[in-house]
Amino acid sequence: MQDQSRTRHAAQPRHGADTEEEPSSRNGEQPQRGNDSRRSRNRRRIPRRGDAVVKRTRPPESETRQPDNQRQQPNGAPPRADGTRPKYVRWGMIDLTPEIADALDAMRYVEPSEIQRLAIPPLLAGRDVVGQAVTGSGKTAAFGIPMAETVNPRSRNVEGLVLVPTRELAQQVAKEISAVGSKLGVRVAAVYGGEPINRQIDQLERGVSIVVGTPGRIKDHMSRRTLDLGDIRFAVLDEADEMLDIGFADDMEFILRRTPSNRQTALFSATIPGFILKLIRRYLDDPVWVKLVEKFDGIKTAAEVKQVYYDVAERDKERAVREVLDELPDDAQTLMFRRMQIGVDRLARNLARGGYAVRGIHGGMSQRDRDRVMRSFRDGSLRVLIATNVAARGLDISTITHVVNYDMPDNVEEYVHRVGRTARMGKEGTAISFVGEHDQEIIEKVLGKVGADVLERKLLGIYGG
Ligand code: ADP
Ligand code: MG
Repeated sequence: MQDQSRTRHAAQPRHGADTEEEPSSRNGEQPQRGNDSRRSRNRRRIPRRGDAVVKRTRPPESETRQPDNQRQQPNGAPPRADGTRPKYVRWGMIDLTPEIADALDAMRYVEPSEIQRLAIPPLLAGRDVVGQAVTGSGKTAAFGIPMAETVNPRSRNVEGLVLVPTRELAQQVAKEISAVGSKLGVRVAAVYGGEPINRQIDQLERGVSIVVGTPGRIKDHMSRRTLDLGDIRFAVLDEADEMLDIGFADDMEFILRRTPSNRQTALFSATIPGFILKLIRRYLDDPVWVKLVEKFDGIKTAAEVKQVYYDVAERDKERAVREVLDELPDDAQTLMFRRMQIGVDRLARNLARGGYAVRGIHGGMSQRDRDRVMRSFRDGSLRVLIATNVAARGLDISTITHVVNYDMPDNVEEYVHRVGRTARMGKEGTAISFVGEHDQEIIEKVLGKVGADVLERKLLGIYGG
């Protein structure tokens, strides 16, 4: 069911949102009307191995890669000198280039996760894919592995493109794909705002196969002609619904229109709200849907997150948060969300004054400060981080044990992604939400969609609990 209240956000930046970079003005590039059908008619369609297969949600599990490699784009791995290594080795039921399988082994990815098992085969077969699976289920490698297999590491052209909503996510996704492709020599660049552009230009000039970036900065490089997308074979929209929600729709269209129309395209998120369907229809060609959230409206939190909520009057929230922090186990690591940048700063300051070792992160800070804070949170030296929604999507920090919604999110999707920063890849975690006097509507939506049985209502000590 489409949440009508969100539809209007598709084109307009969300009010008060901590947007990553200023999306370009809406007067800029106008989408050309009626181009959809033209595009699909004119689309040079490379015969693909998946062609014979009618649209399906599950790829056949027994499918093996053809020994003579009928894939549209064989990767450019150098031929092996001794000729003894097989062309492909199995990872779970998936046939991968040995160098990629070796890299996964080094990353301790023993077998594919479910989304990987179901999304990688159609992607290797050249199909477009819409992938929906809960937070922390391995979606990055689900597109990162086939992308590393698809690009030619010996070419100097950019052949893989991943668009993400935030800078920290660009860094993280680039790092993961780079690890997957390391033994093939696949070079990956992260391209995002707030960092000196010259460093990125140097890196792009040296030649990279894959670019992971935020739409604003990618567009910037395109207009400086330091990034040419004319050779893109494979484009991915990670957290596509968030990119639309924070106002990147026009930038995404601008970028995708400048990639070859016969490219392969995939879109991944834990939430696929109705407003994204137009984008899917326009830019994906007969996609295979891999949807691993069984509920009809596709709202699902990771099963391992224990979720509780407290009624807290706005004016009592600081006392409430002290109570919560004081009761956490010593080894807890907490990510706390506030709505506004100024709220993050204020709470961080007040808690620090009270002797708590906390830091804040939001889009109003310099990238250098953001990087510094993220580094200390990732290495575990920082135990409590207070953030705007800039940290709500995609970030994978497996040591996070607690998420606190100091301010409730604006909608259920945001709730799902925020609490999804804990309990990743089967780990356990707890999400605590403060429901203030103005949050009745949103908590009811969360209870209705996530499940009233999933959230436990509790009473704080400050209220006699
Ligand atoms: P999602 O994008 O679905 O939220 P991520 O791609 O960030 O999830 O992956 C979550 C975590 O799982 C990461 O730490 C990642 O390194 C790890 N991971 C991914 N695939 C595997 C795998 N096949 N085996 C073990 N760990 C994996
Ligand atoms: Mg992700």
